[in-house]
Order: sequence, then C-alpha cells, then structure tokens
Amino acid sequence: MDKKFIEAVSEKLNQAKADLEKQLGSFAQKSLKKEGDWDAKMPLYNGGIEEEADEVEEFAVRLSLGNTLEEELRKVNLALAKIKKGVYGICDKCGKPIAVGRLEAYPQADFCSKCQ
Ligand SMILES: [Zn+2]
Repeated sequence: MDKKFIEAVSEKLNQAKADLEKQLGSFAQKSLKKEGDWDAKMPLYNGGIEEEADEVEEFAVRLSLGNTLEEELRKVNLALAKIKKGVYGICDKCGKPIAVGRLEAYPQADFCSKCQ
C-alpha cells in the first residue's frame, strides 16, 4: 500500500483516537482493571429522589454512549496496530484488501464492503 496514504491514514487515526479519548474522558475514566477499558464516572448524588432518578438515567445514557465510543476507540487502536505490523487495509474476514475509498471514508474499517 502507498506510503503516503498510510501516513495520511495514521494521522487521521491518531486524530480520531485523541478525539475519542477526549470525549470518553469527559464522563469516563480509564479503567485501572483492564487496559483499553473505560469506566463511566458515577454521577454525584446530591439532590432529592427526583434528581437522583434523573442522574441514574443520565448514567445509563453515559454507559451506552461510553460503550459506543469505547468500541470505536478499540477499532482505531486496532487499525494503528495493523499499520505497525504492515497489515493495514486487509479485511479481517476474507483477507482481501479493503478498497482505498472505503478506508479514506472510514480509516478504522476492519472489513471490506462485502464482508461488513
Ligand atoms: Zn472481506
């Protein structure tokens, strides 16, 4: 694969990684138990019962958003690891190269358009 393209992709991935970590960091913290895992911060309970219910709901929203961001971050890290190994752009399922256009639009793609 073209070296210039790989360079551009790793820049994009590093940017995406920084963005995702920033978003996650606003309501979650890196898990001390598991590498690459994030724990949602528990909201502070300082109000009455009604407020508490709101906070619990907010916590659930944070958790599900956190999981989505965490999954995305996992893909970004995986793509960066593939670049290091020199196997970037290969479909995880069929082992064929992923179309460049697809990688440009979504650099952390791990499947080709047929397998996704
Ligand atoms: Zn495939």
